[in-house]
Amino acid sequence: MSGVRLRRAKIVCTLGPASRDAETIVAMLRAGMDVARLNTSHGTLNEHLELAKRVRQVAAQEQKPVAVLMDLAGPKLRTGSTRDGQPIELKPGAAIRLTREVIQGTADAVTVGYERLTQDVRVGDRVLLDDGNLELEVARVSPDGLDCRVVVGGWLGEQKGVSFPTTGLTMPSLTHRDRECLVAGVGAGVDYFALSFVRDADDIVRTRELIRSQGGETPIIAKIERRQAIANLDGILAEADGVMVARGDLGVELPPEEVPLQQRRIIAAAARNMIPVITATQMLESMMNSPRPTRAESSDVANAAWELSDALMLSGETAIGRYPVETVAMMDRIIRRAEEEMPPDPQTWLTRDTDDHSYVVALAARRIVESDPNMRGVVCFTRSGNTALLLSKVHPDAPIFAITPDEAVARRLSLARSVVPLTSPAVESSEQLLRLVDSALVEGGHLAGGDEVVVVASLPVRIAKGATNFLKLHRAGESAAY
Ligand code: PEP
Repeated sequence: MSGVRLRRAKIVCTLGPASRDAETIVAMLRAGMDVARLNTSHGTLNEHLELAKRVRQVAAQEQKPVAVLMDLAGPKLRTGSTRDGQPIELKPGAAIRLTREVIQGTADAVTVGYERLTQDVRVGDRVLLDDGNLELEVARVSPDGLDCRVVVGGWLGEQKGVSFPTTGLTMPSLTHRDRECLVAGVGAGVDYFALSFVRDADDIVRTRELIRSQGGETPIIAKIERRQAIANLDGILAEADGVMVARGDLGVELPPEEVPLQQRRIIAAAARNMIPVITATQMLESMMNSPRPTRAESSDVANAAWELSDALMLSGETAIGRYPVETVAMMDRIIRRAEEEMPPDPQTWLTRDTDDHSYVVALAARRIVESDPNMRGVVCFTRSGNTALLLSKVHPDAPIFAITPDEAVARRLSLARSVVPLTSPAVESSEQLLRLVDSALVEGGHLAGGDEVVVVASLPVRIAKGATNFLKLHRAGESAAY
């Protein structure tokens, strides 16, 4: 198959102190950033709102639809402070108490500021401290704390992450600050929310209710980073608009050898549910301090593209690293090279029986591209973005040009694999629609006159939310004859 060779997998960049100024954002955009992530775990809400504005300005100047994704930090539990700020040595076999009381931590007792600590946790449950570097087992639960035994010892500093991989925690999925960020995010018109530490489908439902109560329809990306979320994956994905393989925290609750397996499972589950999937964390971690990645990292990036992730995410690399722009450029290079030789497409989810005609039209477009090497791409007209998402999930081996009159839809589609979002005026007839293919794609430099494409749309064009029911083989430039 030939065609304009665009990068299929998208790049999500976390913005932070290393990348907050307009010049760096422009450079990252030119190097390949498709989605800008605001990580509310760090920085102030005002800083994030300022950044969202700056991204919008820069994207408008560069005429590139860029989605802004606000990542809600969720209820990450942490240990309290330690006496004199000194790390504490936890020796294997020693006893240590976890208490809700605010104390200066010692080797005997440490604060964990979770209200329902003693209600949720049971004897025998595991406790992981410092992102899994230390492990405790709960020996006794009393009204004011947990008496634990150190299983894996080491040094514990202040404010270290705490997780309970074998406990069903009942805390709310949104903290007070998450709610504040969400309200401000809806007001600022961010394109996506990512929700951290999702446990089940209800977490998504409640967040959606809150978004709607603010008058928003912002799509929600579920971050899968808990054992509980793995157990409830199908329910969560049925409710969510997208999913993130949050390998950092997932790798705390699960042993390292489980992470690649879960990555594959989550990507496959996203394909079944027809929603975009982001593979995240430590993709080019060594580039925080080095202008070149490790060879293992470049393989990780290529593999995530071959596994058909919609997008790959950079976190610290672009937020606080020394080489934010170089890292984006490197990720772009690795993905493009990998995509020159995609491994055989795992077609399992493409063969299901269905009476969903939109899906069947998308599959037909894919088959035409597959069987005709002259096809340069699939063009779709989409008001809601759904047709483009559908095409993206059936993976035609060609770019998908998604033409939409709605700028917000164009920005959201910048997350979807293989999709090139383009904005256009609204159209009134199918002839006008085909003329637009020629003007948007030929004049925009995406196609040459005479190039062949498959055009799909929902007709009549005036009906806003119809099923995809139209497919035409089109030669670029031929609309001049209409
Ligand atoms: C992760 O844990 O992999 C992740 C993406 O979450 P965060 O960066 O918000 O901790």
